[in-house]
Amino acid sequence: MSVSTVAAPVAAPAPAPASVRAPLPVLGRDVTVPLATGGEVSYAALDYAASAPALQRVWDDVAAYAPYYGSVHRGAGHLSQLSTDLFENARTTVAEFLGCRPADQVIFTRSTTDSLNLLAAALPAGCQVFVFETEHHAALLPWRGARVTVLDAPRSPEQAVRTLERALADRDGDGPALVCVTGASNVTGELWPVTELARAAHAHGARIVLDAAQLAPHHPVSVRDLDVDWVAFSGHKLYAPFGSGVLAGRADWLRQADPYLAGGGASRTVARRADGAVEVEWHESAARHEAGSPNVIGAYAIASACRALTEAGFETLVAREQQLVRTVREGLAGVPGVRVLSLFGEDAPRVGVISFVVEGWDSSDFATALSARYGIGVRDGLFCAHPLGRVLLGAEGECGGGTAAVRVSFGAGTPQEHVSRFLRATAELCASAAPAGSDRS
Ligand code: PLP
Repeated sequence: MSVSTVAAPVAAPAPAPASVRAPLPVLGRDVTVPLATGGEVSYAALDYAASAPALQRVWDDVAAYAPYYGSVHRGAGHLSQLSTDLFENARTTVAEFLGCRPADQVIFTRSTTDSLNLLAAALPAGCQVFVFETEHHAALLPWRGARVTVLDAPRSPEQAVRTLERALADRDGDGPALVCVTGASNVTGELWPVTELARAAHAHGARIVLDAAQLAPHHPVSVRDLDVDWVAFSGHKLYAPFGSGVLAGRADWLRQADPYLAGGGASRTVARRADGAVEVEWHESAARHEAGSPNVIGAYAIASACRALTEAGFETLVAREQQLVRTVREGLAGVPGVRVLSLFGEDAPRVGVISFVVEGWDSSDFATALSARYGIGVRDGLFCAHPLGRVLLGAEGECGGGTAAVRVSFGAGTPQEHVSRFLRATAELCASAAPAGSDRS
């Protein structure tokens, strides 16, 4: 299934059959944490949107490879050759996972932030960038060297497309332009109309990069089907927390740009000229932007996660996760004082990322209480999306402290019990008195 059409980004999924209701095995299932009330409880990791636990399968693959670890692209020894093969095969696996076109490049980076900064550094001269104010800071901020148009938060997917079309139609000249958009919001979990935004971008001669940090762990992402020019995502949100990320897509701008980092690996030949200066011929392949010794374990872990998710089947994973989304949303709707944050409204399709505010509670106190009394890990704050926080929270939102929101997020490794415990805890906390001075709104 592919995502992100305005009409039906995610078709109402059929209930997952009983045989697939089990979560995928992840690390940390047996970890217990102390409670402020005494005793210990198994940890409920409900902060997948920040970093998801490693898939057991990824851990096993990494452990099996670790004894064979060797330098990549720079050794004649057997293990160096093997590691180089694994690294390059990881590139191929990621390209398949993302449905890349034959000429696309897959560059291993440190993270989504790193990937988008790399693309920002590779923009052609005079490039205009269009970005919604609702983006994560990783997608909002890297373009400061370019001419940036920040678009107002839309209140529906259709409005997002109209807003972009209008901005592109009004842009100066017909020079290079780039649209950067998220696939799924890290605050509301809502899906963005990527296919339509890509169509609008291309119709106006612009290119588009998809921030798939929150989309790729929850849905299949196909560069070809979505018709986007680049995709960026992070391994640590894709159950592969070993320090790698990906930028995949069109090679031309990347090939024409200076290397992101200058150094060994990015250079094909380096020579001293007669006048004493150093002359460099840079690679044109992905290696151009991967100077230094690459993170082969990180790349291998991402490839392992891509294989594991593909084999588990996204149709199954989506169906199961949507059941959890429904359970959490229905559960929260029944708790007095809870307001779930949404940009696109009740019926908007979304992934397992849900933010809310609780009347009378400071979000940080609420998140602390979930941890201290129930062993539940969530996040609170404005989630590195401060302008979006202001739009969603209105006068309630203050950046850099004070009132913010609580975010619960989950995915392929989440057992039903974590979600049930979270709903019970939320209802109990809401029924009890908040700590003195908690309501800082
Ligand atoms: N984009 C979105 C939508 C995110 O949620 C995040 C992280 O939360 C990022 C980008 C940045 O990811 P990273 O911190 O892995 O670079």
